[in-house]
Amino acid sequence: MLKISSIMLCLFLLFPITGCSMKQYVAPGDESSHGFTHMSTPIRNTSKSSGQHGNPIQVVNNPDSIPVLVNKENKLPDGYQPKDLVNPKIPFVFGGELTSKRKMRAPAAAAIEKLFAAAKRQGISLLGVSAYRSYDTQKVLFNYYTKKDGYKAALAYSALPGTSEHETGLAIDVTGGNGECAAEDCFARTKEAKWLQKHAADYGFIIRYPKGKETITGYQYEPWHLRYVGKTIAQKIMKSGITLEEYYHAIPVNK
Ligand SMILES: [Zn+2]
Repeated sequence: MLKISSIMLCLFLLFPITGCSMKQYVAPGDESSHGFTHMSTPIRNTSKSSGQHGNPIQVVNNPDSIPVLVNKENKLPDGYQPKDLVNPKIPFVFGGELTSKRKMRAPAAAAIEKLFAAAKRQGISLLGVSAYRSYDTQKVLFNYYTKKDGYKAALAYSALPGTSEHETGLAIDVTGGNGECAAEDCFARTKEAKWLQKHAADYGFIIRYPKGKETITGYQYEPWHLRYVGKTIAQKIMKSGITLEEYYHAIPVNK
């Protein structure tokens, strides 16, 4: 087990483009390395374990639901593994290695294939950067950082196992065909990002961490992080300019 864990960790350290932000190399493959303060979300929590800011973390009871809400305060059950992971037929920034990072749940995989194809028809070239990440991988990473820097410090830049959307198999980080600005702020200014903002919902995806919603999602603006929620919900969310959190709690944002 230790040997497997070490191998997994090495793979992640060797291939840092694994998650949402490239700004801090310390937590490859981790979305919560942005350092800003996550304000409390309007989510009712019941369990006793604590999240990043001391709030209790609720374990979601519908982990297989397509529009499941997973964030720093709502985690997947320990060891959760989606049952319908497949390899979407889309190009990735990396070669043949790390095939597990390509995986997505079947409906999300079919949708991302359609999205990539539509983009291509309109002269927009996209590449996948990182999709599925297993609970065990996240656990290995988090434990490694806890050992290195202590639990509290690790929490500041690494996600607790179960709280990363990539563990649902419904999220994918993408970038432009030239591979530049992969999971970096400059991606926001690219034509690919603009196309995604306009068209992702037509294929059931939302820009999960929009600009200006940092205190609600707990994440900085990540124009590259797409989350599959299904077409109906995606269109509602993107049209209203709200987040998945707001969708579930009906907070009025366009008064
Ligand atoms: Zn991501």
